[in-house]
Amino acid sequence: MQKTEPKQQQEKKVERIRWSKSGNKKGPVLVLFVGIHGNEPAGMYAVDRIAKRLSGDDEPINGTVYAVTGNIEAVKLGIRFLDTDLNRLWERFNTSQDFSIRRAENRPAEYLESLEIKKTVDHIIDTHSGTSSDFVFIDLHTTSSQSCGFILLNDTLENRDLAKGFPVPQILGIEENIQGTLLSYINNLGFKAIGFEAGAHNAEVSVIRSEAFLWLVLDKLGIYELSEENRIRNRELLKTENGVPATYYEIVHHKIVDDPQRFEMLDGFQNFDQIEKDMPLAYEHGNLIKAPRSGRIFMPLYQKVGNDGFLIVRKVSAFWLTLSGYLRKSFFHTLLKYLPGVTQVGEHSYEVNLNVARFLVKDIFHLLGYRVTQKDEDTLICYRR
Ligand SMILES: [Zn+2]
Repeated sequence: MQKTEPKQQQEKKVERIRWSKSGNKKGPVLVLFVGIHGNEPAGMYAVDRIAKRLSGDDEPINGTVYAVTGNIEAVKLGIRFLDTDLNRLWERFNTSQDFSIRRAENRPAEYLESLEIKKTVDHIIDTHSGTSSDFVFIDLHTTSSQSCGFILLNDTLENRDLAKGFPVPQILGIEENIQGTLLSYINNLGFKAIGFEAGAHNAEVSVIRSEAFLWLVLDKLGIYELSEENRIRNRELLKTENGVPATYYEIVHHKIVDDPQRFEMLDGFQNFDQIEKDMPLAYEHGNLIKAPRSGRIFMPLYQKVGNDGFLIVRKVSAFWLTLSGYLRKSFFHTLLKYLPGVTQVGEHSYEVNLNVARFLVKDIFHLLGYRVTQKDEDTLICYRR
């Protein structure tokens, strides 16, 4: 894969709104997040290329597009974050973990960034509520390993619909494994939001894929129509290499790392590489870590920062997708409380006692579109997205 040296950020000043363009106010509003991680510039460069192409008045669009910069201070330094990961703190607001209850000098730099992003998002929503036909949010990232492009989404039917049709793998249910993401925050506000990961951090191909993906998004939403020739060209640019099937995947294992300094992936894993059970994958505190099951390795950590060592994904069957799409719109929800070990604790939430309900319960809740997290060893919390 093509690779270039890390590019220095040329701009002296990094703006929160990196780019915006407005056309027919009744059209959709598309918000692109870039630089949520400061060492992932591909999304910013892709936005700049699109901004340039659409700069003239002779390129009208239907709707409004905003590109919002994430971690401005980290972008200036070209590092993932200063104090804490800006893409892991979005579920802290209004909880006992809220940074606002800390003394000002103990708050991470990213807290301020998150407040400003919140304000920007609120402002965009206020400005266009009532006139705009739809709101769509896209978060652009890259990975520390070599990778094809792929889409990450919280598994709601609306997100699935938005992500449908792009010729890249789609990973469902990321929010159950990685908490506090910006995507979850936006989804919880009631809007569609998906993530696009373009490839390795500083590979030129990651800029090319981000740009291709964004053109296809603009086209799909009816904001800017592509010619058939350009549509085909951009789809070609997005297509996976190494024969990774562009289908749906779910996460079946998540290796969490307490100290990334003491974690070392073995060399040579590319995102989505097939792995077998017991295959050596990494060293942690000097101990060999083997694959607990077979599947495809996902987001192996090749940087000394971050707490997600690697994940394992497996294909989701088309049958399950269709069935779950159908069931989520059905009356089956009303029957959940009758399952053994299941207690309804809110209008859209249930607790599951695992001593009573061992088998299938998680699958049933997933099928019906619930987010399932472990409360403690014996209890699951299931919440409808
Ligand atoms: Zn990222």
